[in-house]
Amino acid sequence: MEHEGQLAFDFEEFEREEARARLHEWAGAPLHFTTDYYPPAMLDEAFAHWRFLNGDFGSFGRSHMWHRSISGGTVEFGEHRAESFTADLRPEPGAEGPGDLLTMVVCEPCEWHSPAGSENEAVEAWHDHAVPGWRELPVVPRQVRVRSETGLTKVALRWIEQRYPAHMQVPGAPIITERAQYGTRHVAGYSPWGGYDLSATALERPARTQPGRSIRREAAWFESAQPAASAARRGRVLGD
Ligand SMILES: [Zn+2]
Repeated sequence: MEHEGQLAFDFEEFEREEARARLHEWAGAPLHFTTDYYPPAMLDEAFAHWRFLNGDFGSFGRSHMWHRSISGGTVEFGEHRAESFTADLRPEPGAEGPGDLLTMVVCEPCEWHSPAGSENEAVEAWHDHAVPGWRELPVVPRQVRVRSETGLTKVALRWIEQRYPAHMQVPGAPIITERAQYGTRHVAGYSPWGGYDLSATALERPARTQPGRSIRREAAWFESAQPAASAARRGRVLGD
């Protein structure tokens, strides 16, 4: 039995060597951080390939590649579909870097993606893209308890159903809720129709129609600092 296990291991290593030797033939999404649009399946495939080549350990931080957000579920609204990805650009201790954990939301039917930014910024950008009029929705006041352990409360459902326009009470539509000071994340799947429960803080940021400042900053940093960073970490595999 031990003998068979050994053979299986060697075979996988052989495949890895093969894949490394044929890296120049890779035609998928880049095996490093990118600000270009790629469909979700291609991002998944590229990250899986990077992990196959370089190992799973620390792969978020080592690859800087887009991977599925742990918290962001898929939300569909009309012809649109929001899928969340995260890239870890935070520097290692003692190193310099742009220092952010970035999120983008991809809308594959439109071949659209949000600028890379904070999780909330990305989610808001997708709503600006896909859900016209969401900024005019009534804000559920903090006095209305929105959720209990078992989900949305009856009082919240009644409040929302009475005040939200009928055309916004459809699958994937969001609600906006007033939050306590430290609970301002937008949460996928928490509206009565499986859309986002958006924190009212979203309305403090104006709609963005241009790619934001942050994406340009990250891209510029990567272009200027990548060779230096690679040299400084000689012997480490950073992708190509
Ligand atoms: Zn779309």
